[in-house]
Amino acid sequence: MSGATPISAARGKLIVISAPSGSGKTTIAREMLSRNSSLRFSVSATTRGMRRGEVDGEDYFFLTPEEFRRRVSRGEFVEWEEIYGDLYGTLQSEVDAALRGGKHLLFDVDVKGALSIKRAYPEACLIFIRPPSLQVLEQRLRSRLTEDAEALGRRLERVPMELDQAPLFDYQVVNDVLTKAIEEVHEIVQLHLRTP
Ligand code: ADP
Ligand code: 5GP
Repeated sequence: MSGATPISAARGKLIVISAPSGSGKTTIAREMLSRNSSLRFSVSATTRGMRRGEVDGEDYFFLTPEEFRRRVSRGEFVEWEEIYGDLYGTLQSEVDAALRGGKHLLFDVDVKGALSIKRAYPEACLIFIRPPSLQVLEQRLRSRLTEDAEALGRRLERVPMELDQAPLFDYQVVNDVLTKAIEEVHEIVQLHLRTP
């Protein structure tokens, strides 16, 4: 059987963190996962290459473009997007397994993916992480040393479109001082997990 698990029948909650690349969403998402044992990371599929330190099946399911497209044609994704020339998507099986098991899921997806998840699961909580400024965002991306100049340019090009979508999110948190941003997101997560 396929299709989305109705949220009303599930105990699990969905929390989506989204932001322009380099805003700090992965850093904040990791902290939320370490603070909340009931929260599980939604492992997405992607066709991008593995970064140093990443583990297949933990950070992403790393697929070839052929395998990714095969899964798209089988309807295996809740949503998927082409981002910076690679494909990224949320597998329906990940969401279904968590919700059926009563686990809360934390998503780290792009802004379009976040809004697609909201359409499929209107009770999902969408959190947008804002960088304090474009200059700071660029600095953080450069110091992360994970992209070459071309890939960095592609990430920066997308920022205006991403910031335009921020008002559609349930919450916006500015990540200037990291500890403060973490506390703010933690409060939102706790509030959402406690809401019946
Ligand atoms: P994203 O997942 O949104 O692309 P990351 O979490 O990888 O962003 O953060 C980008 C870089 O900025 C990382 O090197 C991270 O350590 C750093 N970083 C994140 N938040 C802050 C902050 N508030 N102040 C300074 N550096 C930060
Ligand atoms: P990165 O390559 O830095 O890991 O991720 C690039 C972008 O893809 C980030 O904005 C990240 O949130 C987004 N992303 C990761 N997984 C998914 C997914 O399953 N769906 C969508 N739409 N975006 C994703």
